[in-house]
Amino acid sequence: MFATLSDRLADTFKNLRGKGRLSEADIDATAREIRIALLEADVALPVVKEFVAAVKERARSEEVSQALNPAQQIVKIVHDELVEILGGETRRLRYAKSGPTVILLAGLQGAGKTTLAAKLAHWLKEQGKSPLLVAADLQRPNAVNQLQVNGERAGVTVFAPEPGNGVGDPVAVARGGVEEAKRTLHDVVVVDTAGRLGVDAEMMQQAADIRDAVQPDEVLFVVDAMIGQDAVTTAQAFLDGVGFDGVVLTKLDGDARGGAALSIRSVTGRPVMFASAGEKVTDFDLFHPDRMASRILD
Ligand code: GDP
Repeated sequence: MFATLSDRLADTFKNLRGKGRLSEADIDATAREIRIALLEADVALPVVKEFVAAVKERARSEEVSQALNPAQQIVKIVHDELVEILGGETRRLRYAKSGPTVILLAGLQGAGKTTLAAKLAHWLKEQGKSPLLVAADLQRPNAVNQLQVNGERAGVTVFAPEPGNGVGDPVAVARGGVEEAKRTLHDVVVVDTAGRLGVDAEMMQQAADIRDAVQPDEVLFVVDAMIGQDAVTTAQAFLDGVGFDGVVLTKLDGDARGGAALSIRSVTGRPVMFASAGEKVTDFDLFHPDRMASRILD
């Protein structure tokens, strides 16, 4: 991901090398090129505008550091602004003070929710937690089975509907999962919910009903980074329909241009918390804005 953006920005900075100081024209030309690079990376227009304005203002007003030449100075400004739009600090999970922490996953079908649920549970185990996965996606015929297979691979127990567990009723399954966690002393519950191929009122309502029933500590919106600007539109719909605390970007191993990653925080006000980049259960980690910015500018 970000390959084109990285190349474009590198070219822009190259043009500044060897300059003793930056003229107004240099700053304007650089700002124009950064704007094009971000638009080509599919970053949302308001985010691009804000970003470029901030870079320009800082390039004009910043004390010229003795240690940095103008090109390095611009790289530093762009780095800082990238960190800023990516959310600044790494946003860590908030665990419940008492009883099991409940994490609800929401997102479109195909976003990678079920795959992610197992990765998250595996990661939680590595953090010393004892997670329980709850299969409340009863829409997709194979979702429960897929979660069971993935859960097994991750070495995590899966609570799935069976007679008495609320077959056909995702709200009852989710509630049952939390009860089961309390009984069996699992300290984190990860609830997988149903998605649809597109934004759909019934799906939103179901996720909202599950949310009301289990009162999650964190609602995570799972989104495929490959869908670019659509990720932002979908996020907005989920924010209105269900609400969420953080974003999980999936498929970062693909050749997405990066627009989703760079836009979603500014547009929704919610941070990217986790990044998922592959089919293996270990291809998953907290999202670190500073590392991502460095990777883009590497
Ligand atoms: P769900 O409908 O949201 O539960 O999505 P799934 O978890 O079933 O994932 C949909 C497809 O995307 C599957 O073929 C997954 O193997 C694939 N997938 C999920 N996460 C990733 C990822 O991080 N990278 C790649 N390359 N593929 C992924």
